Amino acid sequence: MKIYKFGGTSIGSANRMKDAAKLITNTERKIVVVSAISGTTNTLLKIAEHLYSKKNYDAELLINELENKYRLIADGLFDNSKFLCKGKELIDLNINNIKSLAQNAFTIHEEKAILAHGELITTALFQLYLQEQKVDSVLLPALNFMRIDANGEPDNYYIKENLKREFEKHPGKNLFITQGYICRNLYGKIDNLKRGGSDYTASLIGTAVGADEIQIWTDINGFHNNDPRFVENTKPISKLSFDEAAELAYFGAKILHPLSINPAKVSNIPVRLKNTIKPENEGTLISSIAEGKGIKAVASKDGITALKIKSGRMLLAYGFLRKVFEVFERYKTPIDMITTSEVAVSVTIDDTTFLKEISVDLAQYGVVELNENQSIICIVGENIIEQEGYINKIFEALKSFKIRMISYGGSRHNISVLVKAEDKKEALNAINEIL
Ligand code: ASP
Repeated sequence: MKIYKFGGTSIGSANRMKDAAKLITNTERKIVVVSAISGTTNTLLKIAEHLYSKKNYDAELLINELENKYRLIADGLFDNSKFLCKGKELIDLNINNIKSLAQNAFTIHEEKAILAHGELITTALFQLYLQEQKVDSVLLPALNFMRIDANGEPDNYYIKENLKREFEKHPGKNLFITQGYICRNLYGKIDNLKRGGSDYTASLIGTAVGADEIQIWTDINGFHNNDPRFVENTKPISKLSFDEAAELAYFGAKILHPLSINPAKVSNIPVRLKNTIKPENEGTLISSIAEGKGIKAVASKDGITALKIKSGRMLLAYGFLRKVFEVFERYKTPIDMITTSEVAVSVTIDDTTFLKEISVDLAQYGVVELNENQSIICIVGENIIEQEGYINKIFEALKSFKIRMISYGGSRHNISVLVKAEDKKEALNAINEIL
């Protein structure tokens, strides 16, 4: 069985949906994970924001805009008037659900339920289009099998058992369509796997069913050797190991959700990144095989804040780092990079929701210094830290930039540096040239 996942832009218009449908109309057994049409989740979030601040009229305007957007897509999608009529009924149903959620006392539960409607409408329309094209398929409601536990982590046993139960309801069927991103939580309430989580859904489903391959369809030819938004003439990379891909995804390459690598790695399921606009292109194959030597790719991550905690007491003191880490744990804030010296420790974070609270709590252990607007540049290649010469080349490339932190040796496949966000583009190009 194969898992296919189509992202928001890959099904972002009636024509794109038609193209995506062409890619799945064969007889092989498949589960197709679909995100919400691009822009939808952002609009739903804005609607929620308006409802929190009691701007119901503004929320209503946005709901109407969304309804019109989907109605136009349905007009372009269906040829047959019977299917068009059904498509519009599906849109009405979902829009009415959103409207009734907007009327309740607005809490996080209503917000999550509203957010789920992007994937719910999109999959319903997509599967209806397959029906119109006489492609036999089944719509599997993700809310019947996707679940997270009390810590927000996927409940793999539940997912596996309930997917099995769902399949048993449809013997002899080959093609299943389901929603990415959405799930239920421990209490059975609608929840989600966080922004961009549809890739994660695909990889969790792949693991649950022991898939042969997970294909992530986007609108770019796989991972590139540098960030195409800032560097010219970048090239797609045909093969990456799970570890290399995980580093690149985590440190900024936007093509794949970082959490989606681990389930595939643990179950050794290859992940193939493909381009819906150019399906004939090879894309990137991510597997347990590490091929080639040297640097494969460079990625960057913006919006980074560095915190330095300087304390004379760190000198020879055990337990100091534990106390520092506990602060970040208390605020559920992950640390990206870390460097230490005898008297100070520097860490970076990209989630600054609790920056104030974290800074106050850290101040009991030393003087806290902040550097905002930083970017991590991450240089990835199988075993690069054990190969001679790369670190020299990187330093040579970056000699005219102020480097705030360097991380070397944390993993064998990654060298990361922290620079000012304003220097990022030039630094990426300098690395690209010298390597
Ligand atoms: N629709 C969700 C988002 O925009 C999930 C996804 O697209 O992966 O974040």
